[in-house]
Amino acid sequence: MNYITQKERLEKALKLINRLKENNYEKVSKILGIGLFLYKLLSDLLNDPIKEDLKIFDKYSKEKKIAILEFLEKLIKQRLEKYQLNRERKIKPLEAFMVEIRKIPFLSLKEKKLLESLGFKTLIDVLYFFPKSYEDRRLNKSLKYCKANEKICVKVKVIDKRKLSKEDSPYNFEVLTTDGTAYLSLKYRYKDFRALLKFKKGSEWVVCGKLKIFNGERYMVHPTVYTPESELVDRIVPIYMVRKGEGKEEYVELSSATKRKLLLNVMKTIVKTYAPYFPEYIPYKLLQKYNYPTIDIALINTHLPPSTENFYDLLEKKTPYQQRLIYEEFLILSLALLLQKKHIKTGYSSPKMEGDIEGFIKEFEDKLPFQLTNAQRRVLREILSDMKEGKTPMNRLLQGDVGSGKTIVAIGATLFAYRNGYQTAVMAPTEILAQQHYKNFVKYLKLFGVKSSEIVLLTGSLTRSLKSKIKQLIKTNTAKIVIGTHALFQEDIEFPKLGLVIIDEQHRFGVLQRKALLERGIRHSSIYPHTLVMTATPIPRTLLLTEYGDLDVSIIDEMPKGRRPVITKLLYEDEKEKLLLFVRREIEKGNKVYVIYPLIEESEKLELKSAVSEWEKWKKFFPDKKVLLLHGRMKDSEKQRVMEEFKKDGHILVSTTVVEVGVDVPEATVMIIEDAHRFGLSQLHQLRGRVGRSDKQGYCFVIVPSSLKESAKEETLERLKVFVTTNDGFKIAQEDLRLRGGGNILGTQQTGHITFSIADLNNPSHQYILLQARADAEKIINKDPYLEKLPTLKKLILYRYGNKMDLGVIG
Ligand code: ADP
Ligand code: MG
Repeated sequence: MNYITQKERLEKALKLINRLKENNYEKVSKILGIGLFLYKLLSDLLNDPIKEDLKIFDKYSKEKKIAILEFLEKLIKQRLEKYQLNRERKIKPLEAFMVEIRKIPFLSLKEKKLLESLGFKTLIDVLYFFPKSYEDRRLNKSLKYCKANEKICVKVKVIDKRKLSKEDSPYNFEVLTTDGTAYLSLKYRYKDFRALLKFKKGSEWVVCGKLKIFNGERYMVHPTVYTPESELVDRIVPIYMVRKGEGKEEYVELSSATKRKLLLNVMKTIVKTYAPYFPEYIPYKLLQKYNYPTIDIALINTHLPPSTENFYDLLEKKTPYQQRLIYEEFLILSLALLLQKKHIKTGYSSPKMEGDIEGFIKEFEDKLPFQLTNAQRRVLREILSDMKEGKTPMNRLLQGDVGSGKTIVAIGATLFAYRNGYQTAVMAPTEILAQQHYKNFVKYLKLFGVKSSEIVLLTGSLTRSLKSKIKQLIKTNTAKIVIGTHALFQEDIEFPKLGLVIIDEQHRFGVLQRKALLERGIRHSSIYPHTLVMTATPIPRTLLLTEYGDLDVSIIDEMPKGRRPVITKLLYEDEKEKLLLFVRREIEKGNKVYVIYPLIEESEKLELKSAVSEWEKWKKFFPDKKVLLLHGRMKDSEKQRVMEEFKKDGHILVSTTVVEVGVDVPEATVMIIEDAHRFGLSQLHQLRGRVGRSDKQGYCFVIVPSSLKESAKEETLERLKVFVTTNDGFKIAQEDLRLRGGGNILGTQQTGHITFSIADLNNPSHQYILLQARADAEKIINKDPYLEKLPTLKKLILYRYGNKMDLGVIG
């Protein structure tokens, strides 16, 4: 049947169905072979259930035949509509879609206000605001065949209505209806019947709800009711959701029903009016490679799914049109990241540094109290060669598990910059860490002739006048090495000779924040400083390709010699007695102990212990020892004092998770984590990383309430068991990703991270699409570095990421 096109075949079938319709389908019961004819004509265009129906069409009753033909007619019309769109598509340039919401014709003021309140600026934003889910409100053909407890929508006619007496029924009112195949009673508990007046005898309604069947009676309780003409029924209805709060990864529907309806309507209007003209921007070859539909169809079907769609595919985002949108979301991001990477490399000059790298490393190592590990040596070499190359700025991620020794590598890089006459800025996430880095930098750099007056610590607890004095030292290039918290670098500081920026423990800062940080805080000329981002969180590949997709990566995959894996044990609360004895013995050996609690104040809801009240208990357990308290509500200066004291002569530090990142107290050997089930795996791993940081054996005890023995959700214990059995940070991060999703790896601070409107990094099939998109993006850039052949794609990239990333190469 190849000699006629698909479209012609569809038209032929439609003609036949129209003829059969005459005189109320009179001919349907008279002619044999209709089904087989249609089957042969359309078999490659249909899916299995309907094909089967057509094969045995002649055996069916007249009603069933009619139902099948009606279904087929709808399907054919939809298909033809698509052909129509493709063929006669008049495309408008992308600029036409950049009109402001205010200026969109057809929309009422109310609609415009709603769209603006949701943060949309242009038509593009609206068209790419995708439903988070869908509701199936297609009509069920015949009530008779619907099963109990099925969620259904049927069109019914009212036969009768009546009050129910208390003796007969738990309901007060019933409306008796039928769809022609069976009766359906709508039951209500209302005391006030006014809402039910609309159910006039003979009136028609579409009712949606859960079908109950009891003693042969079919009924629904408080169904949702629509008029048959309603826009909201006889189709799959998209559900649009908005962020629950600024920067949160949780989505909810609009709370006002009127607004929900308004939004649904305006989305439909806009999609129908504008999506057909949206220009295609993905190379045709790629669409062909993956069998993706063109952009107009992708937009239309994702917002207004055809009634014939497989509902589960839709929910799972498995339809070709959703897959295309996921793919392009990744493609656009990947291109932006690659372009930024390229731009930084070509658009700026970078500080030129000289030196014999091998000689430098040897000298560096010779004066250190320990030998570098092979991995440390390798990454230092990678970093120094980036800096020495001098043409393009370094933009590198240094990844290494907790305790792998990233700091000394950073110190090496700093010394190299120093020798070349450049300043270095080191940013730490907390004051405690900034303080600690300051000490380490002074201690080690002294060995190489750096004067301690050339190293400054810039923290929030400094007085204003001291701060400005330090800023002056930086401005005059007297201070060569500046260590502070991220926050501080957001203030205006002028570095006349900034050569290197080191951002420590950066797992909370993705590509967007890094740009903001560098732009706002550190004034630089056309010279772009070398940037080194350090993180202990092993970053899964998907995030490396998104949040960190603009960086080169160096990995320390080896621990310093003599490190023994921390011995980890899971204990129930009622087994703690033994632990106290153990703790005493460790302290007697001269070691130190951390005890971590999830919150600082009693929370009645969660019954978590608070560090404050538990501190009292630990003091009672160990009246002869120095037990200290640390929590997030303390002032920074106070925190620092406590850490100092703990390092000097403390024995036990009771703390909240303030100590989570980076704190280094080599004598600490025991980490006790209370209510461990409340922590995420990566967080637990960070905490465990605080012990076993020397050649002494480290121990970590994760304590959970005894009640978890019986009531624990499998998942909770499974998670903790993974933690107990491995010290491998990468395995733990992967497990965490699997159990909790990507967003959590980045910490709670979601603002400013890359968000997707349809793609979902936690979904393994989307991860796969990401890899494809990234590979395609690389190929595109290799062939056409400035996207000259793909002007619309280029414009869209600029529209999405132009002011978030550094895309000067194409801008
Ligand atoms: P992290 O990678 O978690 O930031 P640090 O840089 O704080 O780890 O290093 C952890 C500890 O290991 C520090 O006390 C540091 O002095 C020590 N250290 C670093 N490198 C080595 C090495 N090659 N040999 C022995 N100890 C080392
Ligand atoms: Mg560190």
